[in-house]
Amino acid sequence: MPGLVKTEAVVLRSMRYGEADRILHIYTPGRGRVSAIAKGVRRARSRFGGRLEPFFRLRIELHEGRGELLTVTGAQTVHGHPSLRGDARALDAAARACDAVGRLFETSEPHPGVFNLLCRKLALLDEDPAGATRASALSFRLKLLVAAGLAPQLGACACCGEPEHLVGFSGAAGGVVCSSCEAGAFPLEPQAYEFMTAALGRPLSEAPASEERALGQVERAVSETLEHHAHLRLMPATERRSTRSPAGVAQPLPQSAV
Ligand SMILES: [Zn+2]
Repeated sequence: MPGLVKTEAVVLRSMRYGEADRILHIYTPGRGRVSAIAKGVRRARSRFGGRLEPFFRLRIELHEGRGELLTVTGAQTVHGHPSLRGDARALDAAARACDAVGRLFETSEPHPGVFNLLCRKLALLDEDPAGATRASALSFRLKLLVAAGLAPQLGACACCGEPEHLVGFSGAAGGVVCSSCEAGAFPLEPQAYEFMTAALGRPLSEAPASEERALGQVERAVSETLEHHAHLRLMPATERRSTRSPAGVAQPLPQSAV
């Protein structure tokens, strides 16, 4: 039927619109990020119930008209992630994961692997809300980099190919650099290097752990890669302890965070 789109989707964002409607950003396996309007969804007797909230995995039906915005005509829950919703840190981690996907993969280009990765991330947070660590958030981001074609080069110097004496990371070069090429790079300690290779080599459920100092270097490597090659700045991978941001609310990246 022309105009009817049936797909699985994860709700990334949900924004109030008008008196009773919501605009949704959803992520789909076959159409990338889609914007849709859900009419009347904020009325108490809406047939959608509470299903069109962030982090729901749905089987959704959309009507596609001439405009860019599709209209939600039906939605069934595949996974509502109730445990995740009961835990502030897991909610915050889910919001950051959805924000990263929505910004790094904002077009209609299909990336079914990204959809699967996001579903896996949300399922893991639901199974174990206490697993919402900085290490698990960074493992997820490293896998997103790979899906975006921005996998950091870790096997040899990204400038000259030297396989040893790898002492720094350069976002501009797109990977680790050796001691002769380290101008413009920042120091990357062996622990941070080991974390990145382990995180990229294992499934999300077996994400490695590391010390805060090494994780800080990993986060900087991810951030500088995204800034240089995707012109994108994401929120910090986890909430900074000193600042309180309500879960689910995108915060502008503080200048001091990079
Ligand atoms: Zn080099």
